[in-house]
Amino acid sequence: MRRVIAFLIVGVAIVAAAWALAMLPGHVSASFGVYHIETSASIAVLAMIVAFFIGVLLLWLLIWLITLPMAGAAWRRRSRVRQGERAITQVLLALAAGEDRIARREARRVRQLLGDSPQTLLLAAEAGRLGGREDEAEEAYKTLIRRDDGKFLGYRGLLRQAIDRRDWKQADALAREAEAARPGTTWLRIQRAELAVQTNAWAEAAELTEASPQRIVYCIAAAEVDPDPVRALAYAKQAWRLDPAFTPAVLAYARLLRTAGKERRALAAVAEAWRKAPHPDLAAFALASAKTPAERYQAAKRLVVPNPTDPASRLLLAKTAIEAGLTAEAREQIEAARAAGVNQRRLWLLSAELAEAEKGDTEEGRAAQRDAYRQAAVAEPDPTWQCSNCRAETPLWAPRCATCDHVGTLQWHTATAEVTLPVIAGATPVPAA
Ligand SMILES: [Zn+2]
Repeated sequence: MRRVIAFLIVGVAIVAAAWALAMLPGHVSASFGVYHIETSASIAVLAMIVAFFIGVLLLWLLIWLITLPMAGAAWRRRSRVRQGERAITQVLLALAAGEDRIARREARRVRQLLGDSPQTLLLAAEAGRLGGREDEAEEAYKTLIRRDDGKFLGYRGLLRQAIDRRDWKQADALAREAEAARPGTTWLRIQRAELAVQTNAWAEAAELTEASPQRIVYCIAAAEVDPDPVRALAYAKQAWRLDPAFTPAVLAYARLLRTAGKERRALAAVAEAWRKAPHPDLAAFALASAKTPAERYQAAKRLVVPNPTDPASRLLLAKTAIEAGLTAEAREQIEAARAAGVNQRRLWLLSAELAEAEKGDTEEGRAAQRDAYRQAAVAEPDPTWQCSNCRAETPLWAPRCATCDHVGTLQWHTATAEVTLPVIAGATPVPAA
């Protein structure tokens, strides 16, 4: 209804305007050279209105003609962007599905359609890597490096390639470049720590892994290889503070304290560790300065004061007592250990030693020794350092397993208990994020 009313109003206005125009009085005359025009005022006004509209129309046409090539280029650009975006989707789908040929073909199309940008270069590199074409990936990463906005991504990609090749020297150089391009990233910190472990740069590994449970291993290793005694002692102290009961940490610290002439502190650290987790190497350190068997026995007695009934304490006392000729004391300790359930090879070997010390080369002595050796043959194995990764056993602790090359995997292994440390895969390729 409103439309009808509006239509009527407009119709009436047009008719009124036409009528007013027709009723306009007067006339117009104009001369152009030889041409002379003479007409009524209403026709002249009408002609002017028509001329105005024709002028506007011509102007529009002119503008359209001028902007036509630009509009064409913009349209083509939009079309390329649309095609490029479709191709990006294709690359992502192919990457997700592991279809390397499609991924590489579409990645090339993306670069043709959209040109080189961090996004398109990264897609090309990923597609190349998926297809095993490391050269294509490397070209894309190197192109990224030449761009300010792609430097870090380029170095990151090249670093991953170097790690996969196990080219640690190159990887280390690339990690430094990446750090300069984008300092302080968590990912790079992890990568650099892994690289430091691979290249035995223990001090750097320790500095880069502040919160890692593996840090204690790196600190011990750094203390062992650092030629500067002050720095070495500082690393050993860090390791000891991280776990004052972990034998390798305690011994690294105590040895350096002893070298520095701080014997009392060294022995205090070892005694504290013996209280928490007795270990034969701790006893060896504590007894090293005793010169005679009797002094060794006395040193052992002092060491076991906090936990004299621990099987390790009893076995230590028995061993030093046999050496000092205190066979009654040795027998008492061995029997107490057996009563406590200890059935390890070392206990039976001590029994054999005791039989020899007590009874000498007599028939009774030889029979007792044979019996002890028979028991030793079927007894539980002695505790030893064992790799939690490859199960290889070794008498000495080391940061890296000599068999499988994993770092931090050696644990003090007994038949009944294990001193455990979290495991890291030191020798496996660094996980490529
Ligand atoms: Zn191993």
